[in-house]
Amino acid sequence: MNAAQEFQTSEALTFDNRFTGELPADPESGNARRQVTQACYSRVQPTQVSQPQLVAHATEVAQQLGLSPAFCESDAFPQIFSGNRLLEGMDPYAMCYGGHQFGNWAGQLGDGRAINLGEIVNQDGKRWALQLKGAGPTPYSRTADGLAVLRSSIREFLCSEAMSHLGVPTTRALSLVSTGEQVVRDMFYDGNPKPEPGAIVCRVAPSFTRFGSFQIFAARGEIDVLKQLVDYTIRTDFPHLDEPSHDTYLAWFEEVCRTTAQMIVHWLRVGFVHGVMNTDNMSILGLTIDYGPYGWLEDYDTNWTPNTTDAAGHRYAFGKQPQIAHWNLVQLANAIYPLIEQTEPLEKVLNSYVQEFESCWQSMMAQKLGLQAFKPDLDDTLFSGLLEILQLTETDMTIFYRRLSSLDVSNTLESQTDDVTLIQPLLDAYYVPEQLTQDTTSKIASWLRRYQKRVREDGTDNQRRQTRMNTVNPKYVLRNYLAQLAIDKAEQGDHSMVHELLELLRHPYDDQPDKEEYANKRPDWARQRAGCSMLSCSS
Ligand code: AMP
Ligand code: MG
Repeated sequence: MNAAQEFQTSEALTFDNRFTGELPADPESGNARRQVTQACYSRVQPTQVSQPQLVAHATEVAQQLGLSPAFCESDAFPQIFSGNRLLEGMDPYAMCYGGHQFGNWAGQLGDGRAINLGEIVNQDGKRWALQLKGAGPTPYSRTADGLAVLRSSIREFLCSEAMSHLGVPTTRALSLVSTGEQVVRDMFYDGNPKPEPGAIVCRVAPSFTRFGSFQIFAARGEIDVLKQLVDYTIRTDFPHLDEPSHDTYLAWFEEVCRTTAQMIVHWLRVGFVHGVMNTDNMSILGLTIDYGPYGWLEDYDTNWTPNTTDAAGHRYAFGKQPQIAHWNLVQLANAIYPLIEQTEPLEKVLNSYVQEFESCWQSMMAQKLGLQAFKPDLDDTLFSGLLEILQLTETDMTIFYRRLSSLDVSNTLESQTDDVTLIQPLLDAYYVPEQLTQDTTSKIASWLRRYQKRVREDGTDNQRRQTRMNTVNPKYVLRNYLAQLAIDKAEQGDHSMVHELLELLRHPYDDQPDKEEYANKRPDWARQRAGCSMLSCSS
């Protein structure tokens, strides 16, 4: 990069570091592990790495930040987004937060391996925080190394972008850089540590504040800092709300409940299981955050969790996510209680989560089925019937909904069509065709007939319904085994599949005829393979 380009880069990235500018800092700087009190963050320095190389970047995110394609391809880019080179205006820091992990208060957690470079305000006046994940230890690293491996970084990079293109609220990923360092991980905590290639993802979000960011101050009785952070968050991230006051706190909490409910409904729509919904992994903005041992439902099993650490309890299983989000919101309510000092209004807002979730879920399901609107008298039983037939036999959720759109609902066919012919369009969704016994087939067919009737009464023709359904039922998701295949290749130095999946998942609702194989069911070999069906937190 020549001098002129360099100048443009720093011009384009206008840093405006409000978080560090307005909130109390840890008086101690440096990366040594410690308990940090009376402070929202600690200033730290990213660890230098030997050979940062760009693996991939998301062009849409670069554009949002006002970064030119030439800059993204330049030698400076991996230097900057590995933390090796700081630009003028960057003010690196790690955030202090706590959290409930698997239902237990865990005390101080914090950015143990995330380092914020600073915040920029883009060409549209929008604020974005840039955060490196895996850039070395911070005061919050506890016993860990502050690093991340290529495997988990590919998973975070691809999945957060895939989610965004699916229309799911999420943090974004600007870049994925390999560091040239080796990082030792015991992937299954079974006494078999091995070196793996290190990597760093640059995550981007308006704010990385979590429920746990508030909890830590309440837990320590640092109510003045709690108030500062709440007021700051309202003014910065919820500028449409009134100036902080008792009522504004409640309005703010209500909005957090609402956006959290909406996020969970999106997860249920696309078949996403977060895997570690600890309160430190809940964004105050209702964004999906911290992609670790997440997974995508293949077989529709509401009790499925990809996280091996959760294998015994299934606390964070697919179908439990709505309740867990509520439980987490209760913890947030407890944390902000000292600012409100009244239980009743907080409880009322917490109840609004349940209503918001219900009504979003109902309209989401109606959309998935191509209906114009949810009708309680007709659709409650239609939906519960659907969830039953999805669990009769191993059924691929994504394929099922996508294929359902091609079911003919026209009047004449319904009564004459036999069960086997009727379920024909859905056959690709079934993992074990032998399990489609006469009884199972007849139950599925009977639901399909109810559905046909409902759609006919709704007055939507096949074509319009299909078009509508295909905008909410993705054809392509980041199937667990696909991410693993991309990782296997990347660990051999071949990044092509990372790029291919990134491109594929930019258009998850489009038919991409030359990419049909990526819409297929999970192959049998992936059923029990590590990374494809089970994941640990080791990353
Ligand atoms: P998680 O459940 O992965 O979101 O992480 C919980 C806490 O552990 C957070 O405070 C993380 O920053 C921290 N953490 C996770 N992995 C590492 C690591 N390799 N080094 C330092 N801290 C980590
Ligand atoms: Mg986390």
